[in-house]
This record gives sequence, structure tokens and C-alpha cells, in this order.
Amino acid sequence: MEKIKMTTPLVEMDGDEMTRILWKLIKDELLMPYIDLHTEYYDLGLVHRNETNDQVTIDSANATKKYGVAVKCATITPNAARMTEYNLKEMYKSPNGTIRAILDGTVFRAPIIVKGIEPYVKTWKKPITIARHAYGDVYKASEMKITGAGKAELVFTDEQGQETRELIHDFKGAGILQGMHNLEDSIESFARSCFNFALDTKQDLWFATKDTISKKYDHTFKDIFQEIFDKEYAEQFKAANIEYFYTLIDDAVARVIRSEGGYIWACKNYDGDVMSDMVATAFGSLSMMTSVLVSPDGYYEYEAAHGTVQRHYYKHLKGEETSTNPLATIFAWTGALRKRGELDNISELCIFADKLEQACINTIESGKMTKDLALITTFDKPVTLNTENFIKAIRETLDTLL
Ligand code: NAP
Ligand code: MG
Repeated sequence: MEKIKMTTPLVEMDGDEMTRILWKLIKDELLMPYIDLHTEYYDLGLVHRNETNDQVTIDSANATKKYGVAVKCATITPNAARMTEYNLKEMYKSPNGTIRAILDGTVFRAPIIVKGIEPYVKTWKKPITIARHAYGDVYKASEMKITGAGKAELVFTDEQGQETRELIHDFKGAGILQGMHNLEDSIESFARSCFNFALDTKQDLWFATKDTISKKYDHTFKDIFQEIFDKEYAEQFKAANIEYFYTLIDDAVARVIRSEGGYIWACKNYDGDVMSDMVATAFGSLSMMTSVLVSPDGYYEYEAAHGTVQRHYYKHLKGEETSTNPLATIFAWTGALRKRGELDNISELCIFADKLEQACINTIESGKMTKDLALITTFDKPVTLNTENFIKAIRETLDTLL
């Protein structure tokens, strides 16, 4: 078979620990034998981030703006222990945070569904994609503990020094206070990312807040979504035969549980934090969650939702056998390759991405899987494979599909 040719490079962001090992295995076994892989390589491994004072992370995000599509390996977010372990010059910020700040996007997370790994919710047949707004609210709040009686007010002082006040509470005794904010710009780009992603993946979009209680704050989210939808997206949604639908967050939760899945659920920052863990767990496993950052300008960065699987890496370093699930990382590559294929009109690349995903699913459905899945599968006698052999098994399935 002749290798598939690419025209535009993918921005390749390598990473850390066990996922860095997976990264190389995936490229060697599942990609390079079939594709003339054309990437612009950025090493976001912590050693190289430290050598470049984290400039490499910024460069990789800017390259994503230049080329449009990136694929990212999981990376370490340094903490005190990592400072010593890697002898770091400083405690660099989370690469995902840095990249998100440059691309300004929304993160979409969706489970990979296979037979044998059954969702805890019996009605769920199709993936539920969570779109989480990644700016503001309680994550950028100011808080106070009040020790005794007194009056609390919200005060806004405009540039001319004019004050607007709103009573929060007349305290008769001790209590607590919190002030939070969001930005119209940020909510607008959140909305556009969600509408674009719905069109891209031909799925309905649900959005929910508590606007009946929060008549200004949450209501603004609802209004911005509706305004942008009516002005810019209503026609396109109609043409694509998909729906945008707003409801109250508590109604949404009830509907989600009764649903079959197969839609995008857009959530405010806190709701998305909580609901994405609920949805991931209910679908079975974090190692089966894909994640993509979509910017309002149409840039895409694909990654796995899990971390660098540190515990497995230390076993690997000691020469012990590991059984690390590569699916989310493989699907990051297939997502990026498919998007590149769509943008560059290379249908072979899209077909290859589909087949590689199918090969992953077929391999698991034939009973061969990594240990994390073997522990939760409904199959009787799963065959547990180590990291390398599972990837080889996927390659064998892929060869039968090509
Ligand atoms: P983690 O890497 O997600 O792993 C936590 C545990 O989940 C693992 O020990 C393993 O359980 C299981 N697991 C996760 N992915 C798996 C896979 N693909 N196959 C099999 N089992 C899997 O989280 P962490 O250990 O808390 O974090 C490690 C590092 O990752 C940290 O330095 C953190 O900063 C970084 N991180 C990066 C990202 C990112 O780049 N997107 C996200 C989160 C965390 P068992 O050990 O029980 O087998
Ligand atoms: Mg969380």
C-alpha cells in the first residue's frame, strides 16, 4: 500500500511520562507505516519546557494558530514535587492553561463507546459530549469570611468614578461572602465554539443555567447564546437538521439521565467541571475520554482527557510490564488527522482515521484489552494485554480493515 500524503503539517506537541512512551509506539506502529506523516514537532516534555523557559509551549500554541490543527500528548503540570524531580527553574503553569489562554477556546469531552464496557446509565447508547466554559465564575472569585453583624454590598465604580451599589445582605451575625464575574466576550466565544462544534459533528446542542434564580448573571449567558444563535446559526442548524435547545440546569440533568445520548451539553464553568467527571465515570473510564479544544477562530487542538499516567511510567522505568490504555491518545491523533483531511480535502486521511478508530473498537470488542478495561468489562474472559501487545493487536485489526 502506498503511504497517504499530507499537504499541511499537523502541530505535534509531545509530552511526558507514560503517555510519551505511548506517543512513540502509536506513531511507529499505527501511523508512520501508513501515512507520510507531516508534522511540525514541539517537545512539551517537562525537560524541554524547562530548557526553553516554557517558550516551547507558547510557540506550539502560535503554530496552532498558523496551521489550524494540533495534537497534544498529556503533560506534567509542575507542583512542588516536580520542582525537585526535574530540577526546574520555576513552577511553570499548566501547558493546557497556557495554550487555552492563547487560543481562547472551549474544551469538548466525549466518551469512546465500545461493547463490553457498559455505561452505568442503561439508556445511554450514544456519547454525551460535555462543552465546558473555561473562564471565570467561581474559579476567579473573591471571597470573605464575615465575623459579625454588618452590611455587605456589591459596588461597581465606572471609569468616571460613578458608583452603582446593590445590597447583598444585612448580616446580623457571622457569615460568608463571594463575588464573581464573567465577560461578554468570553461568553460569546464560548457560544460560537459550541455552535460550530455542533455543526461540525452534526449533533444537537443543549445549554442550561439557573436563569430563573440568577436573573442577571445566568440570564446573560442564556441571552447571549440565544442572540448569537438567532443571528448567526439558526439557518445553518436547520440545514444540518440539528437543534439548539435551552433549558434549566435541573431539568437538563433529569433529561440527560433519561436520554439516549448523542448530543452536546454546554455547561458553565462549574457545572462543566462537575458534570464532566460524572459523565466520564458513568460511561466507564477516564482512559476512554477524548478531548478537543475548539477556538472561536476555528483552531483545533486534540488530546486525551487523562494525565501522564505517572504510576505506570515508574513501573516501566523499573522494567516492569505495563498495561496502559492508548485509546484516548490514538483518538487524539485520529481526530487531528481527520480534521486535517477535511481542511485539506484529503479523503484518504479521513478514511484512515475512521478505520484506525474502528480497529481500536473491534480489538476491544473481540475481547482483547488493557487491564483498566479488563477490570470493568461485562465480557466473560477478557484477554488482558500489555501496552505494546495491545497496540500490536490494534495494528493487526487495522491491517484487516485496510
Ligand atoms: P492520570 O495520569 O490521569 O492517572 C491517574 C490514574 O488513572 C492512573 O494511575 C491509572 O490508574 C488511571 N489511568 C489514567 N489514564 C490511564 C490509561 N490511559 N490507561 C490506564 N490507566 C489509566 O492522573 P495523575 O496520575 O493524577 O496525573 C499524572 C500527571 O498528569 C500529573 O503530573 C498531572 O499534572 C498530569 N495531568 C496532565 C493532564 C493533561 O496534560 N491533559 C491532565 C491531567 C493530569 P492505576 O494507577 O490505578 O492503573
Ligand atoms: Mg473536575
